[in-house]
Amino acid sequence: MATRQRRHFAHPQHLLLRTHYSTTSSHFCDICRTNVAGMVGYRCNTCDIDIHDACADYFEETVSFFAHPWHTLTLSTIPDDDTNRWSCDLCTESCPRGSFVYRCAQCGFDAHPLCTLLPQTIRSPLHPQHDLNMAPSWGTCSACHQGLNMWHYRCGFCLYKLHVVCPSGAANAGQGDTSRSHNAGAGAAAATPGSSRATRIAKFLLRTSLNIAINAATGALATPVLDVLATALDDQE
Ligand SMILES: [Zn+2]
Ligand SMILES: [Zn+2]
Ligand SMILES: [Zn+2]
Ligand SMILES: [Zn+2]
Ligand SMILES: [Zn+2]
Ligand SMILES: [Zn+2]
Repeated sequence: MATRQRRHFAHPQHLLLRTHYSTTSSHFCDICRTNVAGMVGYRCNTCDIDIHDACADYFEETVSFFAHPWHTLTLSTIPDDDTNRWSCDLCTESCPRGSFVYRCAQCGFDAHPLCTLLPQTIRSPLHPQHDLNMAPSWGTCSACHQGLNMWHYRCGFCLYKLHVVCPSGAANAGQGDTSRSHNAGAGAAAATPGSSRATRIAKFLLRTSLNIAINAATGALATPVLDVLATALDDQE
């Protein structure tokens, strides 16, 4: 089979080499931050950049996102030589150096690519009577009673508020869901706060009720990315 290379806007300075990663590979996709073991992707050996096939195809150079409606967000690299600690404005977890984020440089707004898949509206078994909408405000989480960062899910009627991905492991969107990944119901135990790995957000996105919302919002275009997340979480065990 011929060697295949492609250009990608996320890393325009070099051609990326199509790569079949071994099942023991310890590399991580620089877009979605889950592992690439046993999957196909694109790699720059010079810069140690890896991108899943599905992530290279799905994520676009710019996005419009409801959590920052004022400006277009552009896929950008976290500078390698920067001493600032970058974190995602939605889930508050870190954005590791060299990884990609969607950024509004003008406002300093950053979001993990995976976090741009979060639905604007969810239903939670913790507050089943109403929809929860992601909106900016302040307060404490009704599930874990810790402080909320600006963006969180809340009920417009009851003042019920939830972390985007609650650190308590509370099942924001579907306790007892039959998830796409058999590991996805395991809660947040494996993820440490500030982890550079996307385990927690990936598990959250794989819950059945979120899957349905994401597929509806993207016209099922994100399905290959969700499949990659399910495979990556399975391989982790
Ligand atoms: Zn990926
Ligand atoms: Zn490179
Ligand atoms: Zn995030
Ligand atoms: Zn902005
Ligand atoms: Zn309510
Ligand atoms: Zn919480």
